[in-house]
Amino acid sequence: MAVRHDGRANPNQLILDEPHAAGIREVRDALVEAHSEAHGQTDDLVIGFQLTHSGRYCRPNPGGAFEPRVAFRHPLLDARFRVTDDSQILTDADLRILISDYVKSARLALECGADFVDIKHCHGYLLHEFLGARGRSGEFGGSFENRTRLLREIVAGIRADGNPIGLGVRLSAFDFLPFVPDASRARNGRLGPGMPVGLSGLEIYPFGFGHDPANPLVPDLTETRQFIELCHTLGITLINLTAGSPYYVPHIQRPAAFPPSDGYQPPEDPLVGVARQIAVVRAIKATASPEMVFVGTGYSYLQEFLPNVAQATVRQGWVDSVGLGRMVLSYPEIITEAVGGHEIARTRVCRTFSDCTTAPRNGLPSGCYPLDPHYKATPEAEQLKKIKQAAGV
Ligand code: SF4
Repeated sequence: MAVRHDGRANPNQLILDEPHAAGIREVRDALVEAHSEAHGQTDDLVIGFQLTHSGRYCRPNPGGAFEPRVAFRHPLLDARFRVTDDSQILTDADLRILISDYVKSARLALECGADFVDIKHCHGYLLHEFLGARGRSGEFGGSFENRTRLLREIVAGIRADGNPIGLGVRLSAFDFLPFVPDASRARNGRLGPGMPVGLSGLEIYPFGFGHDPANPLVPDLTETRQFIELCHTLGITLINLTAGSPYYVPHIQRPAAFPPSDGYQPPEDPLVGVARQIAVVRAIKATASPEMVFVGTGYSYLQEFLPNVAQATVRQGWVDSVGLGRMVLSYPEIITEAVGGHEIARTRVCRTFSDCTTAPRNGLPSGCYPLDPHYKATPEAEQLKKIKQAAGV
C-alpha cells in the first residue's frame, strides 16, 4: 500500500490514507471472513500491511506514465525510468513530510485491523534506493547512519504517536548491476537473455545495497547484516528477505522461466536464482540475533516442489518461515493442501509466466491471467496477449 498518491507503482495500487481507509478495512474484513469460512478459525492469522513509496518507479496516474521521485541521480537507470531533472530528487524537507505520511499510514493500519506494518525496503523502491545513497549529501545520504535515517525516524514517529502496532521490514538483502536484454541474442522476435549493462566509465558501482561495489555481480552482506542489527535495536524482529529489483534485475529477485514484458530471457537457470536467495537467507540468519524471525521468498519457480523445499529449509533451520507471492495468485490453497497430505493440483501451480507482472506494468489489474478463470475471462486477458506479443515475451 502506498502511503500517499504520488508513491503508487501503478494506478491500481492501494493507498493507505484517510479517504481510502474505510475501503481497506472492508477488504481486510472480507479476507478474514473468507479465512474463517475456509479454516474455521481466525486466531491463526497475523495480518500485515506493507507501507511503501515507489520512488523511481512511481506511476500513480491513469495512463501509467512514470512520475519518478528519487534519492539521487543514477547514470544507469535515469534514462530508462524518465528521470531527467534534479527536481525529481526528493529534498530533505520532502523526506520529513514523507516520514509523517508513513506515521499516519501506520496509525490507519492499526485502526483498520492490521497486526503489523512492513516498512518496505526492497526492489528499488524509495527506502531501498536510499540504502544505496552513498553519494547524496545532507542528512539522508553518505554514511550508513544517514542512509538508514528514514527507517529510524519512521519508527520513532510511529512510537511517538503512541501506536503500538507490530513492525516488520521487507529487505532486498543483495543487489546486482542492472541487466538489459542482449539484443544480439534475440531470436524469433523474442527478447534476448539478460546481460549486465556496462559500467559506462565508472570504476566501481556505488549505487546499490548488498553487493561488492568493485564486482557488482557478487553479494556482499556486510551492510545487510548491519541493517538487520539496526532493525533488532529498533525492536523490529520480523524480516522478509528478498533480492534486487523486478525493474532492473528480475532474474535475481523473482526467478522465472518466462520474463515480464520489460524484462529479458533468463540469463541463468532460474533454479540458480532460487538457490542464491535460499543461501543468502541462511547465511544472514546464521549470524543474526536468535530473536530475529526471517521469512524467505523467491520459491515459486520450484513449482510443485515448493512445499517440499520450504519444509526442508524450515526444518534445517535455514529460515523461520517461507512466504509465497506469485503462487498465491494461481493456487492460494497449495500449502493448506500440502500440509493436509492432499495431492497437489498440478494445473493450478504457478509456472512463472510473469503475466501478473506484465499486466500492472501495462496499466492492467494484476492477477493470474493464464490459470485463474476469473482473470482468464476478462477483456484485459486479450489486451495482455497483444502486449506480450508486441514485447516479444
Ligand atoms: S501469471 Fe500466474 S502463472 Fe504466471 S507468474 Fe503470475 S501467478 Fe504464476
